[in-house]
Amino acid sequence: MRGVVMHTAGDIRVEEREDPKIIDPTDAIIRLSASCICGSDLWPYRGIEPADHKVMGHEYVGVVEEIGHAVKNVKVGDFVVGSFVISDNTCEICLSGFQSKCVHAEFVAEIGTQAEKARIPYADGTLVATPGQPDPDLIPSLLATSDVLGTGWFAAVAAQAGPGKTVAVVGDGAVGLMAILAARELGAERIIAMSRHKDRQELARFYGATDVVEERGNEGIAKIKELTGGLGAHSVVEAVGTQEAFMQAVGATRGGGHLGYVGVNYDVQIPGIELFFAGIHTLGGPAPVRRFLPELIKMVWDRRIDPGKVFDLTLPLDRAAEGYKAMDRRTATKVLLTI
Ligand SMILES: [Zn+2]
Ligand SMILES: [Zn+2]
Repeated sequence: MRGVVMHTAGDIRVEEREDPKIIDPTDAIIRLSASCICGSDLWPYRGIEPADHKVMGHEYVGVVEEIGHAVKNVKVGDFVVGSFVISDNTCEICLSGFQSKCVHAEFVAEIGTQAEKARIPYADGTLVATPGQPDPDLIPSLLATSDVLGTGWFAAVAAQAGPGKTVAVVGDGAVGLMAILAARELGAERIIAMSRHKDRQELARFYGATDVVEERGNEGIAKIKELTGGLGAHSVVEAVGTQEAFMQAVGATRGGGHLGYVGVNYDVQIPGIELFFAGIHTLGGPAPVRRFLPELIKMVWDRRIDPGKVFDLTLPLDRAAEGYKAMDRRTATKVLLTI
């Protein structure tokens, strides 16, 4: 089968890889219908994470081609969506809703779903079948649930977005945009997008933003306070992962408010004393997407939400290198790969 391999930072190739096989009885093999490139794939691409002939991709939708004898919840021919973290969905951590920290957790990034096929361990606990074969136009939105929507949704839930709440979203990448959609669906009263790119502001408004703040850092915090009677937002989502964005998110949260942080924050240093005096709730980390998948799939299936609009460039798998380049240069927000 063909699949994306990153030889070294910035060197993306599509090559012949070995076909996956069932190893454990709880495995499933899926034939991918579509995959995509994630903001986090840019970490190794830019040399921040090591890359030595690394298989790539962790977002996926596809059709089950083969199952191990212990798999019960999905069958051959099912169209399935899975989270970017493998989970058994039966351990205590999974049952408490944190499948991304499952005792059997494994990052799908190690499996590499920018490929024609993938072996999914713990298929019963990881994959969710759609009600039937989807119309082709639903595939981008179903693919979005696998990570960006699931992650944005978790961030909004972690920030306790809901009726009567003002939600501020730091970051206008795919996850930030999906957090706006989530805040709207969760019933937030006011949603402030922090963005300085015109095209993304437009998409933010499409997904439910009521206000846009272009300022960053302390000026951004001051602007949020100005819009909230001096208090700060009830709920803040951090979806960037830089020092400035993280501290902006802490500063924009009102005392007793909630911060949901999902930006992968390698280099962020959080001064304890600033967090201490902020007096806020914080929850973040790799999103337990599996918790939300059934609900998100249903909303997509019923055409109530349109997260697939976040893909602004579609390329065949063979042209993956162009997709990486476009995301690295920010000429694309999120790239869908057709297989
Ligand atoms: Zn991702
Ligand atoms: Zn588990």
